[in-house]
Amino acid sequence: MADQALVLFSGGQDSTTCLAWALARFDHVETVGFAYRQRHAVELECRAPIRASLQDIGGWRATLGPDHMVDLGETLAAIGDTAMTGDIEIAMTEAGLPNTFVPGRNLLFLTYAAAIAYRRGLRVIVGGMCETDFSGYPDCRDDTMKAMQLALNLGMNRRFVLAMPLMWIDKAETWALADRLGGARLVETIVERTHTCYLGNRHDRHDWGYGCGTCPACELRAAGWRRWRG
Ligand code: ZN
Repeated sequence: MADQALVLFSGGQDSTTCLAWALARFDHVETVGFAYRQRHAVELECRAPIRASLQDIGGWRATLGPDHMVDLGETLAAIGDTAMTGDIEIAMTEAGLPNTFVPGRNLLFLTYAAAIAYRRGLRVIVGGMCETDFSGYPDCRDDTMKAMQLALNLGMNRRFVLAMPLMWIDKAETWALADRLGGARLVETIVERTHTCYLGNRHDRHDWGYGCGTCPACELRAAGWRRWRG
């Protein structure tokens, strides 16, 4: 049986590129998103239009399966008290991490995703975690993903594969990957429809898409775009 995949799909540039990567590779692809009172919750509203756009690119209509939403409610916001979920200015912490780091977030997401993949019979779990320009988030590291794969497989008695296509590429290469996977139409979809800005800004349009232009997420996305466009 060909592999079937579940993609952690937030509505951002990285996870949209991962979704296209999975659609180009697997026979059947489902998506999962998480609501956790993120201050950029506007990204969740981007998910359905992006999915609709991707159906018209690359002959992926028959490949794209159902979407799953997991509402984590106040849990992460209540525990975390970070700039990702609260109205706190984005800054560096004493630990050398941006205060947008939500402790354990990706570990939780992968655990929920694996539970859905278990129920749906999907073997490959695809995420946009990246160690290349990852702001130091420890739950984006390749070693963390390998450890999670082992833990999930032991804990659920399955043979899940955690696939992280962006792990070793930077944001410029992420744009290039999207171009390879879906050409100008996919790049245009990512520019117009995906959301990256931590502050949830969808008013200011730049050549790389919408955002405040100055938060760490916008700066990464913009710098990658400029390097890719040369
Ligand atoms: Zn921003």
